[in-house]
Amino acid sequence: MTQLLDDSVIVDCSGRNCTARLAMTRDELRAVVDRGDSVRCPGCERKAKEGARKQERRGLTKFELIVLAAHDLETAGEGSDLDINDLIVAAWSLDRTRLGLRKYERQYPDAKNVEVSVTHMVNTYGLFARTRPCHVALTEAGRAPAAKLDATRTRRA
Ligand SMILES: [Zn+2]
Repeated sequence: MTQLLDDSVIVDCSGRNCTARLAMTRDELRAVVDRGDSVRCPGCERKAKEGARKQERRGLTKFELIVLAAHDLETAGEGSDLDINDLIVAAWSLDRTRLGLRKYERQYPDAKNVEVSVTHMVNTYGLFARTRPCHVALTEAGRAPAAKLDATRTRRA
């Protein structure tokens, strides 16, 4: 970021493989940061919007649903040490079609499916940590995307 005039700055576009630089006022930059967005040139902005629309149509990914469910349980006062079954049911409640038991999506969660994902999120991605048998907790790495998803949801609602 380079200082230009008093209230104007040059910012790099955050688009992948994009080298565009944009001049904007500090207020504009602050507005972008405040809504949790990144600075993008018009081309990258268009691509990002298309991506967001696609994502919205597709709904949240399995991992996203699970970290968001953990966040919901925490904020509902369950503490940070979460029973895996509470987490499975909470995630399924967010999107029954996606996390429901095949043929019984509305009635039952696909517990095995969610549990395998949680294991991946513990061992491979570090989004959760095992705390004691049948219990997990969001790590700092998991808390960040969860809070972000929660903020997006609030804005969309
Ligand atoms: Zn760009």
